[in-house]
Amino acid sequence: MVVDMKNEESNGNDNIISSRSNTDKNGIHIIVGQYMGKGFPWINQINLTDDLLNVNNYSPLPNYGENGSPVYVPKMDHTQAKRLFAINQFNIVASDMISVNRSLPDIRKQTCRVKKYPDNLPDTSIIIVFHNEAWSTLARTVHSVILRSPHRLINEIILVDDASQRKFLGQELDEYMNKLSKEIKIQISILRSANRIGLIRARIMGANFAKGQVLTFLDAHCETTNGWLEPLLHRILIDGKVAICPVIDIINDQNFAYVRSFEAHWGAMNWALNFRWFSVGHAELKRMHKKNFDSTKSFRTPIMAGGLFSIRRDYFFELGTYDSHLQVWGGENIEMSLRIWQCGGKVEIAPCSHVGHVFRSSSPYSFGKKQVGDVLYGNLIRVAEVWLDDWKNFFYKVNPTAKQILHHDRNDILKDIEKRIDLRRKLNCHSFEWFLENVWPENFFPNTNTTFGHIQSLYSKECMQRPSNGVHPIGKVIMAKCSIEIYGPQSFIIPLTGETGYIKSDESVCIDANSKKTNASILLIGCNQLERQKWRYDSKFKQIIHIKSSLCITIDRRKTTLSLAKCLSNNNKRQAWKIISQNWNND
Ligand code: UDP
Ligand code: MN
Repeated sequence: MVVDMKNEESNGNDNIISSRSNTDKNGIHIIVGQYMGKGFPWINQINLTDDLLNVNNYSPLPNYGENGSPVYVPKMDHTQAKRLFAINQFNIVASDMISVNRSLPDIRKQTCRVKKYPDNLPDTSIIIVFHNEAWSTLARTVHSVILRSPHRLINEIILVDDASQRKFLGQELDEYMNKLSKEIKIQISILRSANRIGLIRARIMGANFAKGQVLTFLDAHCETTNGWLEPLLHRILIDGKVAICPVIDIINDQNFAYVRSFEAHWGAMNWALNFRWFSVGHAELKRMHKKNFDSTKSFRTPIMAGGLFSIRRDYFFELGTYDSHLQVWGGENIEMSLRIWQCGGKVEIAPCSHVGHVFRSSSPYSFGKKQVGDVLYGNLIRVAEVWLDDWKNFFYKVNPTAKQILHHDRNDILKDIEKRIDLRRKLNCHSFEWFLENVWPENFFPNTNTTFGHIQSLYSKECMQRPSNGVHPIGKVIMAKCSIEIYGPQSFIIPLTGETGYIKSDESVCIDANSKKTNASILLIGCNQLERQKWRYDSKFKQIIHIKSSLCITIDRRKTTLSLAKCLSNNNKRQAWKIISQNWNND
C-alpha cells in the first residue's frame, strides 16, 4: 500500500549533499564544537551526478557478508567505493555485494537463547523512516525484520519516506514492497511526505498511521538478530510505561561486518546535551549484580540513543508523541527520554535484544537552509527550555553558542514552546533535579550540594584545565590562564570545602591519582567511583588532599606540572588552591 501525504510545514526543498559530524566511528559521540559553522568543503568537491545518485547497484555475491562477516571490496572497485562513499557516508559498494537476506550470528548470551516468552506478547507496528537511504541497506532492514521476528508479532511494517529524491526509492520501492508484502502476508505501507519534514515528524507520521499495540522504531540501515523482538515486547507486556531499546551493535560503515557491542553500557549526555554512551552507573550495576538477579532482565538508561526502541502506542500518544518543532535530526532522543523519566515512565535496554546499526561519522543529507550546528542547537534549546529547569541557565553558560543562536532566531526556535511546557504541567512531571538524583546519580552536572567553578593555583595564578576539549578529554591535568567567564574546559564540580568526594568535569571525567606514591601525576580520566578519585579541599592551607594517599596536589616550580606530594603545614603556595565558585543556575 502506498499513501501519499502532503505536509504543510516544510524546511524547503533540500539537495542531497551536505554534512554534519557528530558521531565518532563507533557512533558514540557527538562533537558539536568541532564543526560548528565550518561546513565540509571537500564534500562539495565530489561531483555526484544524477545517474550516480539514482542508480541501484544491488548485486549480491554468494556468501558475501554471510554470518555478519566483513566484505572486502576488490581492488578494482576501490575508486568507485571511495567516490560513492559521500552519498550515504558508508561503503555502498560493500553493502550492494551483500544479500538483503544475509545471515547474522546469534550473539546473545546463553541465558537469553534459552529464555521462554509468554504467548500473549502484544503485537507491534515496525516504523522505519528514511530520507534518501540506499536501497540495499533499507531493504536489508526490512528483510532482517521479516527473517528474524515471529510474524504473529508483526502487525505491519511502515516505511515513511521523508521526501527522498532518489529514483529507486519511488515506484521501484513501491512495487518491491507490494510484492514482498503479498509473499509474507504482512502489510507493508509506504507513507510519503511531499516535503522534507525531518526524522521527528516522519516518525510522528508513521505513528499516526500505525495500528499495532506497540510502536517499534528502527533506522533505515539496521539489521535485527535472532530473538531481538520478544524481549522488547515482553518488557512492555509487564510494564506499559517503558520505552525499551535493544543493545545497538555496530555494522561497520566500511565493510559491513556485524560487530557485537558492549552490553553494559547505557546512554546519557554531556554538558552540551549531546548523547553519550557510558558504563552503566554504579547504583544500577549494584542492583544488577545482586544475587539471583536475572541477567536477561532489562536495565535502566538515563537517555536512549533514539533511533531504535519500542513503546506502547497508547503510551506514546498519552505522553505527547514528540516535540514536532524539532527540526531534521537530533535532540529528540534527549527530549523523549527526559519526558518519559520525569513524567513517571522508564527508559530501559533489553540485554537479550541485539540490533545492528550502521554508525556513520557524518551525515550524508542536507539540513536545509540552516547550518547543521544551528539546527541541532535549536533543538537542544527547546529541550533545555522545557525540561531542564535551572540547568537551562547552566546549558547556556557552558554553551555560549547556543545562547547566540537563540538570540538570533528566538521566535523560530521557541515556536509554540508553551504547548510543551503545558504538556509537562499536565503530565505532572518531576523536576530535572529529580532526574539527576534518582535516574542518573552518577551524573557530572552541577548541583546545590557541590561547588561549580575553576581551580586556581595560588603559586602560578593559573587554572586547572582539561587536557583537550574533545570527546575523551583525558590525560594529565594542564595549567592555563584562568578564564574570567565560565569556561567548560576549566570548569569542575568540586565537593564543598571539608567534604570528601569526586572532582568531576564534562564528559564524565574525574581528577585522579593512580598511585599512592609521591610524584604521582594528577590525571583526568573517566569517573570510576574508586577511592583514587576521592579528594577533599581543606580550608586551613587551601590544600586539595588525595584521600587514598593523604598526599596533596602540588604544582612544580616551573608552574606546569601537577603531582602528589607530602602535605606541608607551612602554607606552601605550591599546594595552595583557590576555588573560584561560579553561579551556574541564575540567568
Ligand atoms: N531521517 C529522515 N529525515 C531526515 C533525517 C533523517 O527520515 O531529515 C531518517 C534517516 O534516513 C534514518 C533516521 O532518520 O533512517 C535516523 O537518521 P540517521 O541515521 O542519519 O541518524 P544517526 O543514526 O546518524 O543518528
Ligand atoms: Mn542511523
